[in-house]
Amino acid sequence: MKLKRRKLLASAATAGVGLSAASLPHAALAADTQPAKKKVKLNLSSQDGVIPGKDLPEKLAKMEKWGFDGFEVWGSDLDKRVASIQDAMKNSKLRISAICAGYGGAPIADNMAERQKAIDSIKRILTAAGELGATGLIIVPAFNGQTNLDNKEGRKVLLELLADLGAHAHSAGTRVLLEPLNRGEAFFLRQLADAAAICRDVNNPGACMMGDFYHMNIEETSDHGAFLSAGQYLHHVHLASTKRNLPGQDDRDFRPGFRGLKEIGYQDFCSLECGPLGDKDVEIPKSVKFLRKQWEQA
Ligand code: MG
Repeated sequence: MKLKRRKLLASAATAGVGLSAASLPHAALAADTQPAKKKVKLNLSSQDGVIPGKDLPEKLAKMEKWGFDGFEVWGSDLDKRVASIQDAMKNSKLRISAICAGYGGAPIADNMAERQKAIDSIKRILTAAGELGATGLIIVPAFNGQTNLDNKEGRKVLLELLADLGAHAHSAGTRVLLEPLNRGEAFFLRQLADAAAICRDVNNPGACMMGDFYHMNIEETSDHGAFLSAGQYLHHVHLASTKRNLPGQDDRDFRPGFRGLKEIGYQDFCSLECGPLGDKDVEIPKSVKFLRKQWEQA
């Protein structure tokens, strides 16, 4: 085997090809094509439900005061809420980061009616997500119990589905974002590299993925390595501590992951998806300071 490999390298060099980009596998190129010199900053966002306040304008005002950059909205009935959200955002410096789920059915359900329900409602939310300028709509292929398809069959169905949903998302100006979860919630799709490989195979700019520090803590061997593997396909990140509380409320270290985000030139948002302990008006600003410090040290 060794000889064969040497021979191959020698003949490549003779032909003047060497180990040029053209001879590298597609995967090796794809993960490394984030713009290395683009300035990377921590764009902090939060899900709607984490922030205290009687209505959207009050929540947005608090978030702006606390130093957030973005706001993540729940997707259910989003088409009916576009105008009111746009109205509230007019008076805010914040941008919509991502849209979280809110669709019906399950994308890779073995039950065709459940699968179709997911496709139709995801498309409806994607159109609204595009109008709001969201980076994407977060979807989970199937929670535990939602499909009887095995991994091989599920992946095949997902690839076909993502070609269609990705095209719809791209024409709406947004993306569909696969979210890997931990095994307690979903056996199908648990690691960022797997999600990225699915996106690579779909090869559609509207089909991308995200990472969630809570699930990553259970499933990944390295936050840093996971984000490097996600590379150009990564377009959203969820933030939570080990016990799914606010970052800073336990010993979860975000610096290795943040270093990975810096190295891939990550341009999207990191968004709180967690249950804060204590008084939110006190604890959330503390968590923002903690995260900014961790980013600085990464
Ligand atoms: Mg999440």
